[in-house]
Formats: sequence, C-alpha cells, structure tokens
Amino acid sequence: MRLPSGPTLDLRQRLHNLPKVDLHRHLEGSLRLETLAEIAREHGIDLPGYDIERLRPYVQITNDPPDFQRFLEKFQLLRRFYTTREAVQRVAYEAVADAALDNVRYLELRFNPAALAHAQGFSFEEVTDWVIQAVDHAQVDYQITARLICTIVRHENLESARQIVELALSRQKRGIVGLDLAGDETIYPAAPLVSLFRHAAQGGLGITIHAGEAGGPENVREAIELLGAQRIGHGISCVEDSNVLMLVRDRKVALEICPTSNLQTGAVETFGYHPLRDLYLAGVRVTVNTDDPSISDTTLTDEYLVAVMGMNLTVADLMAFNRNAIRASFLSPAERAKLEEQLMAEFGRSTDV
Ligand SMILES: [Zn+2]
Repeated sequence: MRLPSGPTLDLRQRLHNLPKVDLHRHLEGSLRLETLAEIAREHGIDLPGYDIERLRPYVQITNDPPDFQRFLEKFQLLRRFYTTREAVQRVAYEAVADAALDNVRYLELRFNPAALAHAQGFSFEEVTDWVIQAVDHAQVDYQITARLICTIVRHENLESARQIVELALSRQKRGIVGLDLAGDETIYPAAPLVSLFRHAAQGGLGITIHAGEAGGPENVREAIELLGAQRIGHGISCVEDSNVLMLVRDRKVALEICPTSNLQTGAVETFGYHPLRDLYLAGVRVTVNTDDPSISDTTLTDEYLVAVMGMNLTVADLMAFNRNAIRASFLSPAERAKLEEQLMAEFGRSTDV
C-alpha cells in the first residue's frame, strides 16, 4: 500500500499504536519477501529471479486485475519455500513477530499442514509441531498471544482432510484452537466435509469457514447450517440475501472481514462499495483482519486505515470490532474475558475516544 502523508500519516501512526486482534491470517500468505529470497537462494529453488523485486509479482498482488483465481495462484509458488524444518520455523516465527510489531496483541494464525508438508514430503505431524514450536518461541520474544487454526482446502482429498482434523484435535493443549475450510467455494461444495467438521466441533475445536467471498449468500447459509460455522471467513455476500443476513446476525456468527483482500479477489469493486459498514449497522458481529499480509502487501494497521478513510468508520468503531473479535475468538471463556479486560484498558490508554 502507498504510504500516506500529512494528517493521514498521523492517523496511520495512531492506528498502528492501537492494540489489535487478528482472527483471520494465513501463515502461507504471511512470508516476508526478504525471507523468500534468502530461502530461494540458499536452497537453489528454481525461480525467475532471486532479488525481491523480481520475486514480487509472483507472490504478491501488484498490478494484477482483481480476480479470485489469480489471488489463489499466488499460493502455488509460495508452497515451494517450505524446504526444511528451519524454513518452516523461520516463516512461522516471523509471521507472529510481524503481527506483534504491528501491535496485534492476539492473533489466530491459520495454516494448512498439507501445504507445508507437500514440498519435501514431510509428515503433517512434523510440520505442525514445527509451527507450534516456532509460534511458542515468538510469543516469548514479543508482546503477543497467538493461537493456531488448521486449514483444510476444499479440493483436498478426504483422507488428508481427516488426518488434519485428527491432528488438530490431538494438539489442542498445545495451541490449536480451530478448524478452517478454505479454497475455491465456487467449484467445491462443502457437503462432503460435514461429518468431519461435526467431529471437530464435538472434539472442542472452533469452526470457521471461508464462504460468501467469491460465492453467494447460499454458501454462508451452508457454512452455518451444515458445517456449524461459528465464524465466517469474509461472508460479505450475505448482504445480498436478507434471510441469510438475519441468520448471521441472530446466531451471532462473526464475519472475519479482510478489506484489501476483498478488493484484490474482486469480491468488491471499491472500498466505498464494501459492505463492512452496512453489516456493522445491521448488527452483525464484524471484525477486521488481514488475510494474507505478504500477498496483499498489507498490515492490520493498513486495513484499519482503509476502514476509516475508505468506509467512513471511526476509531471507536474499530474498538467495537476488536471487542467482537475477542468475543468470537476460539479462546476459552476465561481467557476471552481476561483478554477483553486487558485490551480495552490498553485501548483506553492509547486513544482519547
Ligand atoms: Zn482467508
């Protein structure tokens, strides 16, 4: 994102200083470009170039026209960087560190064990334990609490999805708190995964489903009614159907909204047309998140800036979104209450609203 100047710069600094919560951030979309270039050089990964500017268009949205498929394509190359244990751990550590440096105080970082394991034939268990260790390490070094969500992609085979669910269930005491469904909702239905998601929820995992981003409101309904989603990744198309909107609102399903990502995938045309404010005014539990900071070249501060400058929302509204995010987090009720108390006290000190 282009850096603002003048009064906007002051606003940006103020938003940066706010304590924040991010519920929707993908590890696979959070790689520092410098780290990518270093790993590629060290391990001789065959790429069109090894300097950051040559690499950028392959892993980041630059001048690409808004398009959902093009956005997903960026992940293909990124998957090739998980070459060693050190690479996986470095990337996970840096993802949490970068969030902390943006004053994110609570992060739910999601990752797809299959994507991390794929490049070198690692086991799902190995890569998951590496991520857990790296995230634990980052939490010691930085002022942040982080939890993990395992992602299944819609096109993955059922056996691998089942393994990921069991893996997530087995590591709940080590920081895995939820299960996510991602991938192309326009092609792959969620129905084959219903029993797996029910099993995950019964075992204590929180459920969040990517829906209503490239697809219509019927996918949001499906995610809630069939898969038991407590949160929806994006979900913005629910504004197109008042029945689905009421379902989302009445069941207090939180929407994990990621404005820049929505623009880049073509889910919305401009920030001015983004339904975040309408959803908020309609009483929906909305939250603001990053999705894929490195692919979108964004931070949570940037997303807040977009909400204020592009959507006519206030810093007080952002505080309300943070409260929504804490209450919709997959922490235990006691942990949620503690985090809300801490964050709201800090918020009060950092702003005069
Ligand atoms: Zn996402």
